[in-house]
Amino acid sequence: MITLKGIAASPGICIGKAFLFDIRQVSVIKKRISKESIPKEISRFEEALIKTRSEILKIQENISKEMGLEHAEIFNAHLLVLEDRMIIDEVINRLKTEHHNVEYIFTNVLKKYITVFQKMDDEYLRERISDIEDVGKRMLRNLMGIKRRTLADIKEKVIVVAYDLSPSDTATMHKQNVIGFITDIGGKTSHTAIMAKSLEIPAVVGLEIATGEVKSGDILIIDGMTGVVCVNPDKKTLLKYQKEERKYTKFTKELEDLRELPCQTKDGKGIEISANIELPEEIPSVISHGGKGIGLYRTEYFYMNRDDLPSEEEQYRAYRDVAEKLKPDAVIIRTLDLGGDKFLSQLEVPREMNPFLGWRAIRLSLAKPGLFKVQLRAILRASAYGNVKVMYPMISGVEEVDAANKLLNSAKKELRDKNISFDKNMEVGVMIEIPSAALIADIIAKRVDFFSIGTNDLIQYALAVDRVNEKIAYLYEPVHPAVLRLIKRIVDAAHKSKIWVGMCGEMAGEVAFAPLLVGLGLDEFSAPAVAIPQIKKIIRSVNYEDAKKLSEKALTLSTGKEVEDLISRYFREILRGDTQQHEK
Ligand code: PEP
Ligand code: MG
Repeated sequence: MITLKGIAASPGICIGKAFLFDIRQVSVIKKRISKESIPKEISRFEEALIKTRSEILKIQENISKEMGLEHAEIFNAHLLVLEDRMIIDEVINRLKTEHHNVEYIFTNVLKKYITVFQKMDDEYLRERISDIEDVGKRMLRNLMGIKRRTLADIKEKVIVVAYDLSPSDTATMHKQNVIGFITDIGGKTSHTAIMAKSLEIPAVVGLEIATGEVKSGDILIIDGMTGVVCVNPDKKTLLKYQKEERKYTKFTKELEDLRELPCQTKDGKGIEISANIELPEEIPSVISHGGKGIGLYRTEYFYMNRDDLPSEEEQYRAYRDVAEKLKPDAVIIRTLDLGGDKFLSQLEVPREMNPFLGWRAIRLSLAKPGLFKVQLRAILRASAYGNVKVMYPMISGVEEVDAANKLLNSAKKELRDKNISFDKNMEVGVMIEIPSAALIADIIAKRVDFFSIGTNDLIQYALAVDRVNEKIAYLYEPVHPAVLRLIKRIVDAAHKSKIWVGMCGEMAGEVAFAPLLVGLGLDEFSAPAVAIPQIKKIIRSVNYEDAKKLSEKALTLSTGKEVEDLISRYFREILRGDTQQHEK
C-alpha cells in the first residue's frame, strides 16, 4: 500500500478502481528494479516501441487519406526518433547498468537529447524537439498503460487519475461513471476543484506524483476531507475507510435536518445563505441542502463542452427555469467569466502568459459586446419570471461598471422596443475580487445594488498567489491580515452606501471562518450546496455580538497563523457550548 498526501479539494470518501485519464503530461517516478527484472523491463521497452510505431503508422495512414501525403510525412520525424539506434541502445545499456525503471531511464535519455538539440544553431534540428517530446509522451503512455480515451468512454465506476483536469472535463463527470478524482497539480480554489464540490464528487488535487504512482486498475481510497489517498490499501485500511464512508454519509444526512431552520445567529441577526452553482442540474441539491436561492450562478459552463455558442433563447430558457424553481428566493446570475483556468474553443481567445491577469471575465465581455448583449438580454428576459439579479465579474474600476451598465441599458431598450417584458428593477451587483475594486469599494458602491466578495480571486491577487498552483498553496491564506482588512473595507463601504454585501468565494463555505465573517458584517454567504448545512449550523451557534468582538480582535493580529489560532480556539468553544446545551 502507498499513501499519498495532497490538497483536500472536495469532501467525501470514495473507494474504487483507478482510471488513468488521457493526459498531456505524466509524472515519472524513479524506482529501483532488481537485476532479475531487467529482461522484463527491456521487453516492456521493446513492446512499447512496437506499439508506438504502429500507432504512428496508423495516424499517418489516416492523415494521408484525409489530408494528403505531404501532411502525413510530418510523422516520419516521429518514426525516426523511435528507430534511432543511439537512443534505443542508450536506454537498454542504462537499464542494464543502473537498475532503474524504464519510464525513468527513457525520459532521462530523451531529456539529454532535447538539451543537446536546444543548444544547436540549426533551426531544423531545434524544431525536432517537439517531435521528440511528442514521441516521448506517446511512449510513456504505452509504457504506463494509459489509454487515449475520453471520460465519456468510461463504462464502469472509476476514480479518475490525471496530471491535470480542466473545469470542462470535470463538468461532464456527473454524467459519466466517475466517483472521484485525483490530480498531480492544482489548488483548492481551482475551478476544477470548485466544480467537484458542486457535483459532490470527492477529490484530492496537488498530489504531484499521483500519475507516477498509480496504474489503471489499482484500488484507490480518496479522503476528500484530509487530502489522503491510499493506493492498493491493505485490508485494515480498507475496513477503516469503509467505516469512515458510512460515518460521512450519516453525518451529511443529519445535517440535512437543518434544512427548514432559519439562518440566524443566537441573538437573532438574520443572515442569507445561498448556493453557488455551475449547472442547472444542481438545483435539487441546493433545495435539499436548504439553500435560499443562488448567490452565484457561474454561467460560463453554459458555453463549455460544445461546438457552438449558446443562443439568447437557449440561455433565457435555462435562466428562467432556475429562477422559476427558486422563486421567491433570489438567483444571482453572474455574466460570463471566461479566461483564467476556463477556456473555450469556440471563441478565438489566444493563450496568454498570465491568463488570470489577462483577457478574462468582464474584460472579454466588454470587448465582445455582441456576445455580452446576447447574455444580458437572456438574463433580463428571465427576470420577468422570478427574483433575478445580475452580477459582473472581475470589476477593477468604475469605468467597467459604467460600460457594462451602458450595454445593459441598451439591451433593455431593445427588449422594450420589441415589447418583451423584464424586471425593470432588477438589481445589478458586482463581484469585488480585485484589490483595486476593494480599495475603491466606496466609489463603486454608489453605482450598484450589491457586492459579492470573490475571495478566490481576491486572495490570489492580494497575496500574489496563483490559485491553481499547488507549489505555493501554503501561501494561499484566506485569513491573512491583508485579506481581512480588504474584506472589512468592502463591507464597511457597502453598508455606508446602504447596499448589502455577500461573499461567494470558497472562503464562505469553510465552516471555521463563518463566525469571523459574521462578525465582519457579511449579509449573505453563498457556498457550494454541500457546505450550506454546516455553515448554517455554525451561524446558529454564535452570538453576533461575540462574533463582532472576534473579528475586532482578529483585525489586530499580525499573521494569518495568529488569526487561525484565534478562530480555532473560538470554534472549539462554540462546539463545547453546543455539546453542553445538548447535555442539559
Ligand atoms: C471568486 O473569485 O471568489 C469567485 C467566486 O469567482 P470564481 O471562483 O469563479 O473566479
Ligand atoms: Mg473570481
